[in-house]
Amino acid sequence: MIKRRKTITVKVGSVTIGSHAPIVIQSMTKVSTVDVARCVRQINQLARAGCKLVRVAVPTRRDTAAFAKIVQKVAIPLIADVHFSPSRAIEAIEAGAAKVRLNPGNIKSRKDILRIIDAAKMHKTAIRIGINEASIRNLKIRDIPPKKRTALMLREMRKYVAIFEKQNFTQLILSVKSRDPLRTIETNRPIAQAFNYPIHIGLTHTGLPEDAQIPSAVTLGTLLTEGIGDTIRVSVAGNPLTETKIAKQILISLGLYDEPAVELIVCPTCARAEIDVIKMAKIIKKALPAVNKTVHIAVMGCIVNGPGEAADADLAVCAAKNKGYLYRKGRKISVVPENKIIPEILRQLEKI
Ligand code: SF4
Repeated sequence: MIKRRKTITVKVGSVTIGSHAPIVIQSMTKVSTVDVARCVRQINQLARAGCKLVRVAVPTRRDTAAFAKIVQKVAIPLIADVHFSPSRAIEAIEAGAAKVRLNPGNIKSRKDILRIIDAAKMHKTAIRIGINEASIRNLKIRDIPPKKRTALMLREMRKYVAIFEKQNFTQLILSVKSRDPLRTIETNRPIAQAFNYPIHIGLTHTGLPEDAQIPSAVTLGTLLTEGIGDTIRVSVAGNPLTETKIAKQILISLGLYDEPAVELIVCPTCARAEIDVIKMAKIIKKALPAVNKTVHIAVMGCIVNGPGEAADADLAVCAAKNKGYLYRKGRKISVVPENKIIPEILRQLEKI
């Protein structure tokens, strides 16, 4: 059981972030913000896939105008990403952003920050202070040894947070990201110790979907196991639904996903397998989206190791020659011929 880090809680619209609130999956739209219909469609797809928050980039005045319309058309809270522009931040807050992401490397003027704080207070908007390694203020990152970068990011965070605290603004979420898994892990640890605000974790960029999964799982998995991370974003060069799917898998694998989810375990197969285990698992997987409950299913290739390895599964099938042994929580419930294995699994799933 993972012990979450205790933090203050922050309201991002209807979503609570921090402490013991469920870890929130978020992603980002990847279509033009001014194309309101496409943007709304993508946000709704992400919401259906499990995102509780979606971030939208608003680089221009036209984008914040479109953002105001998008907010009205979707059911989940939206975050505005404002890049270098304090004006965009204020426009987005007034347009209904539930949270605004500010990068201390981009918005530096104290006067501008104070204006944004005033607007955020007035509209009850949360703010994420998101430091990216590559944008540390006034520094050429390539000239700084990696170890020093961690200290610099912590120092930047302290300075920026102090401005907000001086104005009694505490609806803050913090993030420190890098493209490097180890540095992201090493930087988040002191941030988690130094502050009691919720932390958003992620890598700045990882790669194409097939290359993004392992660095994302290693980085987010390590931090989450240490109790660090209250909202997560997996960054993938691809469809944001893929980001959401990977994020969900990370949370499910650590027992941190708090909604109905099916976990399908399949043995790697070996010479002992007497039926096509992978084909069977693929057919079962196709049926799973209709299963709206938390259930752990195991598909095992033999009865030599299968029953023991799948003893904690809610439902397991251990294949033998021309037949399958079905188990519930390690207890054998039936033996069925090979052509009846899948219908029987689906029938048993309904009973769980
Ligand atoms: S469960 Fe059986 S078939 Fe599958 S990998 Fe283990 S020994 Fe091989």
